[in-house]
Amino acid sequence: MSGPPSGPGKTAPKIHRDFLDFDPLNARQGINILTDHAPPVGEGQQPSQQPSACRHDYTIKHEQSISPPLDLRPDAASRYKLGTVCKKCRLHAVVKIDYTRSVNPCPNSEYPLHHFQRLPEFDVRDEHRIAYAWQCSAPQCQAHLEIGFGKQRLSPEDRDLLINTELLKRRYESVLQHDPGREGMRQATPMEALSRLRKYIKDSLNAEHTRRSFPANNKRFMETFGVHGQDCAQLLQRLGFKYASDILEWSLPDPPTIDDRIEADGNSLRELLEDVEIELVALMYKLAGDTGAINPAASEGWPSASRDVERVLAAQGYPRHVSLRRTNTANEEAPFFSSLGALPDFADSLVEFVHDRQSNCDPEQQSYYFECLQVITESRNSEQLHVKVAMLQSTNLVSRRDLSSAYRTFGLSPTDNSADDYILNVFQARQSNVNGDVAEENRQALYKIGLMRNSQLLINASRQSVETYEDALAWIGNGATKDTDDEMLISMLTLKEGTAAVREIAQKAISVIAKERRSDMLNSWLQTGRTDGYTMSVDEALRYMNIEQKLEDIDQSVIGVALKLARTERPGEQTEKAIATIERALAGRDVAMTHAPASWPVGLVSHGNTCYLNSLLQYYFALKPLRDIVQEYDKYKLDLATEKGKTARVGGRQISLVEIKGGQRFAKDLQHLFDAMTTEPGTAVTPDRDMVCRAFLEPQAYHMLLSSAMDERVGANRTDQDVATDSALGPDAMLNGTESAQQANGEDWVSRQDSVASSATLQADEPEDVPMQLGTEQPRPSNTDVTTDNAPQEPRQPPSAPPLPPRRFSTTEDVRKAQREALSIAEAKAREQQDVTEVHDSVTFRLRSGMKPEDVDDSGEQQDRIRALYTIGLTQTELRNDGGASKPVPLSDSGIQVNVPKEETDIYSALDEIFDAQTFEGADHETFKSVRSLPPILQISIPRIGWDKARGTYKSEATVRLEDELYLDRYIDLSHEDVLPSRKRCWAWRKQLRELRKERLALKQSAVDIDLQGPEAFGESVRILQDFSQLNNDLEEAGVGGVDIDPSLTAALIELAGERTQRLQKLEEQISHLQTCLHGEFTNFKAIKYRLAAVFFHRGTQGSGHYWVNIKDFDSNLWRNYNDDTVQQVQPNQLEGIYRATRWEQGTPTYAVYVQDDAKEHLIQPVCRSPREPPPVVEKPTEAVQTAPADPTPVLEESVAEWDKPREVPQVPW
Ligand SMILES: [Zn+2]
Ligand SMILES: [Zn+2]
Repeated sequence: MSGPPSGPGKTAPKIHRDFLDFDPLNARQGINILTDHAPPVGEGQQPSQQPSACRHDYTIKHEQSISPPLDLRPDAASRYKLGTVCKKCRLHAVVKIDYTRSVNPCPNSEYPLHHFQRLPEFDVRDEHRIAYAWQCSAPQCQAHLEIGFGKQRLSPEDRDLLINTELLKRRYESVLQHDPGREGMRQATPMEALSRLRKYIKDSLNAEHTRRSFPANNKRFMETFGVHGQDCAQLLQRLGFKYASDILEWSLPDPPTIDDRIEADGNSLRELLEDVEIELVALMYKLAGDTGAINPAASEGWPSASRDVERVLAAQGYPRHVSLRRTNTANEEAPFFSSLGALPDFADSLVEFVHDRQSNCDPEQQSYYFECLQVITESRNSEQLHVKVAMLQSTNLVSRRDLSSAYRTFGLSPTDNSADDYILNVFQARQSNVNGDVAEENRQALYKIGLMRNSQLLINASRQSVETYEDALAWIGNGATKDTDDEMLISMLTLKEGTAAVREIAQKAISVIAKERRSDMLNSWLQTGRTDGYTMSVDEALRYMNIEQKLEDIDQSVIGVALKLARTERPGEQTEKAIATIERALAGRDVAMTHAPASWPVGLVSHGNTCYLNSLLQYYFALKPLRDIVQEYDKYKLDLATEKGKTARVGGRQISLVEIKGGQRFAKDLQHLFDAMTTEPGTAVTPDRDMVCRAFLEPQAYHMLLSSAMDERVGANRTDQDVATDSALGPDAMLNGTESAQQANGEDWVSRQDSVASSATLQADEPEDVPMQLGTEQPRPSNTDVTTDNAPQEPRQPPSAPPLPPRRFSTTEDVRKAQREALSIAEAKAREQQDVTEVHDSVTFRLRSGMKPEDVDDSGEQQDRIRALYTIGLTQTELRNDGGASKPVPLSDSGIQVNVPKEETDIYSALDEIFDAQTFEGADHETFKSVRSLPPILQISIPRIGWDKARGTYKSEATVRLEDELYLDRYIDLSHEDVLPSRKRCWAWRKQLRELRKERLALKQSAVDIDLQGPEAFGESVRILQDFSQLNNDLEEAGVGGVDIDPSLTAALIELAGERTQRLQKLEEQISHLQTCLHGEFTNFKAIKYRLAAVFFHRGTQGSGHYWVNIKDFDSNLWRNYNDDTVQQVQPNQLEGIYRATRWEQGTPTYAVYVQDDAKEHLIQPVCRSPREPPPVVEKPTEAVQTAPADPTPVLEESVAEWDKPREVPQVPW
């Protein structure tokens, strides 16, 4: 068995189409439309058929086919085969599919179609046939496909021999001559010749046919084949007929039966005869067409094989794009579909699928596939695809055409390979004489080029204009200076209306200014788009009081005096606000101070913008089983001293040695952090910068950082264990690259001695706001089947950014430079990759990579303790039209992601949307999901970034109410015999509810263009009309003519308004009734109980914001709020903010964690503390003491100082 297939693929329907078009005998030079992929549009000739190619008309050869039974899913024992032949060119084609390697064959919910990648090493090519091989790229399917072609069995000479009338005439004459007395002789027609030979062959194939020989002087035989058959003896003997000259007798061929039709390769006598028989029918059709002769085989028909081929490929009935069902015009988008291995009639969901599949299988061309998706999206203008494109764009994916247009912006060619410096110069030269939108477009273009080149230089330059306070003011323009007040700046911005890009940069500019000025008004504007109603921060309040010190440095009594003074000197609302803020902060400080270090968890200091990571780290620490695994990781890790790697998959793909090592190193960092969190005497610790970066390092970067000449600089701080580990790894670590000789201790690159180099890169970029990323389809270790050793590329990596190639470093300086680059990329990622779900997936993937598999499941996935903690088993069931249900099919899923909430909802409703019966686009029956097995920890992701036509990409702030107790019986069909009937009842009710709500909405929307809705609008119209008639009366009294109003109009309107009001009331009643029904349906199903244990929150907009986490302490029965470096108890009156966050400052839950009720105290143990003695308090050191080398690791101090630089926005830790 050779390696797995790689490169782009084609979906089953596309293969089917290409199969029908492909003519191996008339193929164009260079490109094989069946097996090859067309070059990207615009980069070469699109393949087309040769004019001489046959437009085949295939039919099935039934004896040579084993078709899939109707309505039966294939399993590992399934192998199907179709033998076909073309009526026109008599080409024989065989389509064979083999599911031997399948665990869960396509189509299934994850892989709606096969996606075949070529396996050229399995091709067969000999004199008689040519066969091409593919394998389905779905890891659980791996169906093996073979399509073979065989030449016609009857040559042109054979054909001529049989139907040439001249020859037939001569045969007739020679027979007459041979036996002049014979009666009833006549000349055979060509049709008779074909038909007679066919009859003999059919008889020979039929085992029931007992007369196996005939006299050589049979009249009809001699008319057709000459005296005793001698004219055609050669052909007949080739077909297995035997002539006994002594008794003047021919016997029929006697083909042995074939036991294994799947393996039959066409070389047997039986297959030869079957082929000739059907070819004779094809020739009869041809003859009938050419001469008008009557075809005796016509009644048997020539049914097209197309449907059968489709079924063998599992390509039938896929969801189709509706508008193309009617118009079937060739369109300009067709080649783009082709590139994706798709057909233009694919439904949107399939377009998404093929895009992802193709990008996964062929990451080199990701940027082109993204272009294909964009082109298709624009031509369809479909909401679903727009969301997809927006989502991909937010991952910094740049499409090929967007990149070209970016280059063209600067007058460069897309293939330009000028140095970054040169491009930067061009950019700056242009920026100096353009304004506003053009400047912004240039920046965007530079950003894209920077992304694709992986050039921090260009990326930074593209953002440069608002990087600093001065830049931000300059960008706002209109004379804005440092003295312009906040409100004025905001109103200046409103003059700058423009594109989304301009709005984005405006946000950035304001955020820079907000940081500089510590302005909460500006922060409030950033978060809410308004300037009123913002809450004042402590620092701002202090500044307002003209107090320059920090709150914690001020004596309480002094504050009291200052506040009093302010009240008398500057009475007013603002002063009261400031006083209230400070008093609240003082109260909080007291609360925070009352906890003994041994009883209270520590906070985590943010590295500028890593609040999302801190939230996760706190969660991991609180999760006892995970904390234990990390702390005893040596027990679980794969021993690289004895193992060379592992075959078990993690996240659906193979794991390279570098990833294993990376995972182990990451675990070690985490262990180190957990130790610090346990022993820290103070209230907060700072996670190593190294670990933060490591969570985002590419495997390639790991490799590069491993392969270094760093040994010379490493040493002092290394423990013996490090050395032992590294040397044990030594030679193996080279497996993944070309580096060889100096493999050794380089992994310590991030150890503290190295921090000088690293921190340099950190200084370059001030911490930025935390953009919230789309919550779907992230660089989780996906179920791709890209399994080459070092291939795994997280999709987020700028697509055609060349992965850091393994290089040979000649000098230490080279090494350090490369390391800085890698580190800087990881840091950029740390800053961009913000979605908690996605980072969580990436972290668990890393930890699992380093572990040794305890077992392997059907799909080859590693079983381990971390996976066992989280993995939920789901099934999908089809509802048949007769009301019955199919057998549930297991799905592989590691968590639950609900839909982006569109309106206020609760956790059950959000889950119902996932589990309810629904029809997927194009499918003809409903399916529903159920839970098959539950993990101890149930994680529910609540994505917040949505897209719709009106708003484009938006963040959903809709409230999601969380239940403290969550009962899951209702999603487990087997939990109780009444569950499924109850579920079905609820589905029907909810359907009804949706209809009623729709009607209510329609009734409430009014056609009357006044600022009222529904019935009130009608009421208002009536009032206006009545006013009019009053006015008329007045006018008439005054002797002036009035305005004519149809009196019936008013009456009609009153009636209509009344009807609508009544209908609305009725609707409200019905809605409330249904809600009561739904609410009551599951009250008795309370066996499977989960408790809310942690909730991740995000506050802010799509472009900026803050993450924190609330974690329950079941032992003490309290909730804590972990907000970077502070950990506080959630007061009882604040609990509503967790269960039912409605106000913007409460944030929106993005991730909810539930735990099994019976084990909750074992699963969640947030307090794990054994603080070491705090260092003795010393006198403030004199200068002399400071310069003394008191600290053994001064470099560390420096680097931590970089990271620890206090963030400059005081109100919220950004
Ligand atoms: Zn043909
Ligand atoms: Zn498949």
